Amino acid sequence: MSEVKQRGRRRASSQATHELSSVVGSRREAIAAERAHSSSSTTVAQLLRAGASSGAGQKVGVAMAATGLVLAVALPATQASESLQMETTTASAVETVVTAGAEVPITFAAPEVHSALNADGKLKQTLQVNASKVTPQASKGTLSAPLKTLAPSSPFGDRISPITGQVDEHHTGQDFAVASGTDVLSAAGGTVTFAGWHQYGGGNRVVVDHGNGLSTSYNHMSSITVKVGQKIERGDTVGLSGSTGASTGPHLHFEVIVNDETVDPMGWL
Ligand SMILES: [Zn+2]
Repeated sequence: MSEVKQRGRRRASSQATHELSSVVGSRREAIAAERAHSSSSTTVAQLLRAGASSGAGQKVGVAMAATGLVLAVALPATQASESLQMETTTASAVETVVTAGAEVPITFAAPEVHSALNADGKLKQTLQVNASKVTPQASKGTLSAPLKTLAPSSPFGDRISPITGQVDEHHTGQDFAVASGTDVLSAAGGTVTFAGWHQYGGGNRVVVDHGNGLSTSYNHMSSITVKVGQKIERGDTVGLSGSTGASTGPHLHFEVIVNDETVDPMGWL
């Protein structure tokens, strides 16, 4: 535990004292806590190992990492008479140290846990930073399919244009084959920022701003069912698929736009 240093100690609030009010005084209980909070298992394991290697001085280490809050606890027997002190931080990478008397009971109130299946929650969490800073691991699965059934056809990236035959045309979106008249669904909640005819080949096009530098667009639609400024939810219909604009047949050209640059939509679906 020597590497874990106390930073900016302060006296614990009465709430914290209350939350730290039932004992986790043994390694066994710490392990139980670890099982209950698997997201913090690494930190707990490290603390337990540290406790084991440093002898009897360290009694327990429990950490919880959820919603970005990390709380690590150490109970050095040598500081048994010290009053409860703690420090908290929202930086998930930083360990927080609490020292307390060896017999001071400690417990944790479980914070709200985000479900990995909750794409809206995941996107909201992901977009706490600008979309350009979102890692591929974090972006995957945060947008919903823009059609009920996805049949990917032409992928994002460089290709030979089906219209001009030009080599190395940059395809700015992912195409999905779909019959005309099929509901086109917003990939996430947001505000409609464009709904109309796209002069550069998109035909009937809708753009939805999801905040923090992330937008999506839906192109070649036969009709548009939203208006600029309209707030919409994930899965709302923005129009019906079609083959308007520069299109050789019915399909949806779906774009993911990060700070005005298109990126591979498959990295977000
Ligand atoms: Zn396309």
